[in-house]
Amino acid sequence: MGRIFLVELEGRVYSCKFCKSHLALATDLMSRSFTCRRGKAYLFNNVVNITVGPQEERMMLSGLHTVADIFCCCCGQIVGWKYEAAHNKSQKYKEGKFVLERGRIVDGVDSEFYLDTHPSMSDAEDA
Ligand SMILES: [Zn+2]
Repeated sequence: MGRIFLVELEGRVYSCKFCKSHLALATDLMSRSFTCRRGKAYLFNNVVNITVGPQEERMMLSGLHTVADIFCCCCGQIVGWKYEAAHNKSQKYKEGKFVLERGRIVDGVDSEFYLDTHPSMSDAEDA
């Protein structure tokens, strides 16, 4: 594996629930209205300290997308996915953006954390 260099973010951050590595800044949060199979998910402009898995085509409620799962580079847990490409024009804004699953991240400021175990369909964001 070699040595892992972790990026330290400043300000309000979202961290990996499992190893507390910083993953994203609250200022990069674009939408809280995403859901995934395991519950709520947030859309971010940028995330750090992740590795990106192989791309795959995935059918979501908003259409077919090319996505790649993303993993915490420190502990290796899956934390969400990246939109590589959207096939539907109205979904193009998501290309290059990242989704972090709410149940797999913790909010750096208020320590409230609740695991949303409500089963849900993937990618059911509101327009
Ligand atoms: Zn981690």
